[in-house]
Amino acid sequence: MTEKKHVLIKNALILTMNPRKDVFYGGSILIEDGIILKVQPGEISLPAGDIQVLDARGGIVMPGMINSHTHLGMSFFRSLADDQKDRLRRVLFPLEKAVVTDDLVYWASLHSYTEMIQGGVTTLFDMYYFEDAVARAARKAGVRSILGETVVYFPAPDSPREYGGIGYAREFIQQWKHQDLITPAIAPHAPYTVDGDHMKECYELACREEVPMTLHLSEMPFEMEHFQKDYGMSPIAYLDDLGVLDSRVVAAHCIFTDDPDRQILKKRGVGVAHNMVANIKGAKGVAAIPEMLELGIPVGLGSDGPMSGNTQDVISLMGYTTKFHKFTRLDPQAMPPESVVEMATIGGARALHIADRVGSLEIGKEADIVIMDHSSPSMFPVYDPYSVLVYGASPRDVDTVLVKGRILMEHREILHLDIPEIRGKGQEYFEKVCSLPALKDLGLKIIRPEN
Ligand SMILES: [Zn+2]
Repeated sequence: MTEKKHVLIKNALILTMNPRKDVFYGGSILIEDGIILKVQPGEISLPAGDIQVLDARGGIVMPGMINSHTHLGMSFFRSLADDQKDRLRRVLFPLEKAVVTDDLVYWASLHSYTEMIQGGVTTLFDMYYFEDAVARAARKAGVRSILGETVVYFPAPDSPREYGGIGYAREFIQQWKHQDLITPAIAPHAPYTVDGDHMKECYELACREEVPMTLHLSEMPFEMEHFQKDYGMSPIAYLDDLGVLDSRVVAAHCIFTDDPDRQILKKRGVGVAHNMVANIKGAKGVAAIPEMLELGIPVGLGSDGPMSGNTQDVISLMGYTTKFHKFTRLDPQAMPPESVVEMATIGGARALHIADRVGSLEIGKEADIVIMDHSSPSMFPVYDPYSVLVYGASPRDVDTVLVKGRILMEHREILHLDIPEIRGKGQEYFEKVCSLPALKDLGLKIIRPEN
């Protein structure tokens, strides 16, 4: 990880994502101690002293991308039991109980962080168990991370007691508060896995400690039926009745919303994590994002876990997001590329309530920056950089990544993480998962050479 007092990025096509959406050709960015000091068209003269110069070679320079909903610790389960019915309750919960440990979460999170850096993700909001292990991985990886400890009604991998996540979160928050790039948080799993009293307890802890809260919301058909049947209202109206919705909350999914639901989200200042790829892969539905944006609800893009969305970068999400919203409305202008790049950057920062610090390339903001190489055939020519990013880019076009001015990847090289070691740990856990009797009993398909 390179860290110098000054970093200068030059020869760049800069998408600032500032309020005017300024685009600078042949532009430069000067960073001092992790903060953007100058961003402008043309050249900046070199300051004296210790300076790292990055030549963008005409590539697209944009704010680091924000993944607003992840489960990093699940990356060693990717491609397992895809497309199974009721996978969450039938496969996932028993699998986690059998195999998830602090050590697995640490290595699986590091594996995820590698993918994030390679895909240009500089900020994420995670929800899983053993978040202390995720925080240690985050510190090693150098990626800006908001980390929510999961709370559920049943004994979880990191707690033998029901709702043990609340106690874990209490300690976790104390331990990781006031870190530079790491923000601890609490994550009641969903309104159908956390009862009203415990939901309030989570919210009160978040308020007391002044940390964010995230949860899955209005995601499952059975969830919608349950709240309608038992409470005569939607899960969003139910949470509003409990008094647990405000601007510290990030709600993942929100697939099934009506206009009153969206009015509540807007009124309370809730951020929404839109997980298009996971939602369409699970054949769940498409959230009413154009309506939310129209209302002014802050919306970011999320990959969901690597078992749900499989890829965890944000570039892969952008194309699907615009195409599916256009397709479901039969309107090619339903979601322009510029609005998707906005959700991937400053919109995501708004959804996570951190837009005062990151999400755009503006003087005074922290320097979370991605340099996209545009030498691949699908990235050329650039009549419209937003269009190129959304319809033509892949994570492999990410060249260089900075978080708060630190270079985490340069010309696709990550020097501060031992990628073969991480992969080796992943292989060990793969073997372990393959031999789990509980999975054999479920008759899941695992295609691998017989021993
Ligand atoms: Zn999720």
